[in-house]
Amino acid sequence: MSWHSIRGHDAVAASLKRSLVRGRFPHALLFVGPEGIGKRTFALKLAQSLLCQRSEEADLDPCEVCPSCLQVKAGNHPDVLQVERPPDRHELPIAVIRDLCLDLGLKPMMGPRKLAIVNDADDLNDEAANAFLKTLEEPPPGSILILIATSAEAQLETILSRCRVVRFDPLPEAELAAVLQEQGVAPDPAEAARLAKLGEGSVSRARGLASREIESFRRDLFDALADPRGFDPSSLAKRVHEFVKDAGKEGVDQRQRASLLMGELARFFRGLLWQTAGLTPPSPDPDDRRAIAALAERLNPEDVFVLADRALEAAYHIERKVYMSVILESLTHDLGALINPRA
Ligand SMILES: [Zn+2]
Repeated sequence: MSWHSIRGHDAVAASLKRSLVRGRFPHALLFVGPEGIGKRTFALKLAQSLLCQRSEEADLDPCEVCPSCLQVKAGNHPDVLQVERPPDRHELPIAVIRDLCLDLGLKPMMGPRKLAIVNDADDLNDEAANAFLKTLEEPPPGSILILIATSAEAQLETILSRCRVVRFDPLPEAELAAVLQEQGVAPDPAEAARLAKLGEGSVSRARGLASREIESFRRDLFDALADPRGFDPSSLAKRVHEFVKDAGKEGVDQRQRASLLMGELARFFRGLLWQTAGLTPPSPDPDDRRAIAALAERLNPEDVFVLADRALEAAYHIERKVYMSVILESLTHDLGALINPRA
């Protein structure tokens, strides 16, 4: 059985436990790994373990019923401080970090220590990171900081050198399929297996792709790209933008949908690379493979590399919160130039 039903990260739990037993638990941890694989859930379970009033902290086995465990679970434990990038901001504001450091300096209210969880650590700018350094270097006695990010490479050297880096791997396909079944995203085992393949180790990605709307939009998008008559770049950009806006009023929902689509586009072009190399694309979807084969017939292999790069670049800019309409316009323009039949 996995550590407290958190699938796929038993090795991380075991290694943290060893540090606790030896009395060498780090005061600053940097969790890195792809989005949607359970880093935040893991951090909260760790907070529960370290604050539980009934079990020994080195057991990493919170009782789940003491007042402290219940409050961590409910998200209102006074000694667990959580910050994240506000949905309407591109970066974690310096004021948020300053307040966090001040708060961390106050005495714990309930237990022996305070814990701070910094989500979206990828979005710490130089200024906010600098404001954080002193606390990271020398946190108030007993307190523990957990930074959550997607990659160690994206962090500033000053942050990196003050943290123990803890790597979280994408979930293995079988584990991911099991999670999708447990969470009721895909009760049918065959559907769970298909989504697990598409999810590439990420629960949030697989969940996103489980929607019928996304399923049919990605189909239309790939078919438009593979259409032998070509496509109109600006009307395609408009269609994608409309679909992204339909995700909801909140910027965060729209960006999530846009990232999901860019990820799918990158996957499609990656499949195209396999095809041009004479291999069968790894996509579990036969319609994808058909579209890929049709497109590969009429493209120069060197253009296929450019297409794959271009989709990744657009995904990068969406993550970096560049204006959506600008990204989509320039992306479809470039795709059109590479894919559309030359007049
Ligand atoms: Zn407890």
